Order: sequence, then structure tokens, then C-alpha cells
Amino acid sequence: MNTQKRYRGRFAPSPSGPLHLGSLVAAMASYIDAKKNDGSWLVRMEDVDETRTVPGASDDILRTLEQLGFEWEGAVILQSARKDRYAEVIAQLLDEGRAYYCSCSRSEIARSARRGIEGWVYPGTCRTSRPTITRAKAIRLITHDTPISFVDGIKGVQSQSVESEIGDFIIRRADGFAAYQLAVVVDDFDQDITHVVRGEDLLTSTPRQILLQQILQLPSPAYAHVPLVLDREGRKLSKQDQAHPVSKNDPLPALQDAWRFLYPEQALPDAGSVEEFWSYAVWSQP
Ligand code: GLU
Repeated sequence: MNTQKRYRGRFAPSPSGPLHLGSLVAAMASYIDAKKNDGSWLVRMEDVDETRTVPGASDDILRTLEQLGFEWEGAVILQSARKDRYAEVIAQLLDEGRAYYCSCSRSEIARSARRGIEGWVYPGTCRTSRPTITRAKAIRLITHDTPISFVDGIKGVQSQSVESEIGDFIIRRADGFAAYQLAVVVDDFDQDITHVVRGEDLLTSTPRQILLQQILQLPSPAYAHVPLVLDREGRKLSKQDQAHPVSKNDPLPALQDAWRFLYPEQALPDAGSVEEFWSYAVWSQP
């Protein structure tokens, strides 16, 4: 871990809809952690999956963050502008024999695979048969079963055997887009991120990201995963469902809602403005 380096955190929303309370909670947790560690805080637009990008959502999220008083360092990086960089890393992994082309369809996988912690565990068919590139659809990373362990800043010790719990996972999708797992690792490294604070839904993705960092010989940031805001049915709020968008015009109640969710034991900042809210939030250092 990069404990000696100056703290650099980030918020990495996917522009699939307006900012909602769940993403605001993740943004607030990482922002407060960066500020209390006297670090910098960056925003990155995770639009690698262009099939999910909603036109205008990126600008809308940035405007909302601004209205809520978040201040980020430097330009906002767009994943959609970094395809060449991802392609270079994917080519390196193929060259080094760490990844392979896969031509299996979903139904072929479902026929021979068993269930893991996140759907089917890829049975490794193309790892051994190596299809011709013309038939190939996706590119998968060769995983192994030496447990990947890390200490999450909130959840404590975590361990996962990626090969048996997840399987060889996709780093480039059949439609040609780099996969989130690959893009996030490359971006966190290129942006020199030392601390990742994000939603708990990504806790089981972290070992995949650490495995990629190990294979690429990159340092791993420190990770902390905050609880998810759930809807009445117990599902994670999703930007795609247009769930509970945060109001740009009335930012203080939104900040207070996120604070109450994150720090239920702490007094609510007695603030009459966004500026007062943040000066209390950073000063009280929950
Ligand atoms: N883009 C992801 C999301 O909006 C977050 C990814 C991350 O923080 O690593 O849920």
C-alpha cells in the first residue's frame, strides 16, 4: 500500500443518469477522507461502457457536484477518451500470455459452468482450446487461486480466490469496449490514486483489481467500501432507474441526507449554507 505517498482519492461516477443519494454518499465519504488526510480529490467519468452512457448525464453530475460544494483537482478524465491506453495494456497482457481470446456465448457458458459469487464461474473452455481470433469475442484474464487478501478500511480483512469464486474474467468485452475491471485499474494507476473509497457493491470486484495490479506490477491503493443506500425493496439505487436524483437547486438537504446515512452517530452539521456544511464536515473529521 501507498501509505508514504501523498493521499490522492477519487470519485468515479458512471454517467448513466443523474447523481442520486447512493452516489452522493460515495462521493462524500471519499471527499471527507481525502480532506481529513490533507489529500487531493479527483473526479473521473467512468463512461467506458458507452452502451450505458446517457447523453448529458456527465455534465449534469458535474454541475450537481459543483452546486453541492465539491471541489476537485485538475481536469475530469473521461474513460471514453482513453481507449488506446486500455488497448495497449490488453495487448501487453495477451503478449505476456496472461490473457486469451474467448469465443464462448453466454448460453454455452451457462451449460457447463457453476455459479460463483457473481453469476457463472467461467469454466475455462477457451483457456485450453484457444479459439482462432476470427471467432473470438471477448478477452479474458487468466486467474489463479492463490487467495487475494486485503484489509478494507471499513469492512476489515477480505479474502477471495478469484479463479474458483469468479473465474477468468473479461478484460475486453465482445463488443470491443474495455471492461470496467481493466479500465479502473489502469486509471487508478495513471492518476496515481492512493486511496479508493466507494460503494460496497464493488467490494467483491476489488480482488480482481488487485490481481490485475499484481500481474501488471502496479501498486495497489488502499480500499474502503461504504454501505449502500437501498430503496424500499432493498435494492441498490441506480442512476439508470433515475432513482432519487439529488436536487441541484436545494443542495443542503441532500448533503444532510448523505451525512445522516454515513455518520448516523454524529451530530448533523449545524449549517445554513453549503460552505458552512463543508467547513463543519471537514473540521469534525468523522
Ligand atoms: N463507476 C462506478 C460506479 O459508478 C464506480 C467505480 C469505482 O469507484 O471504482 O458505480
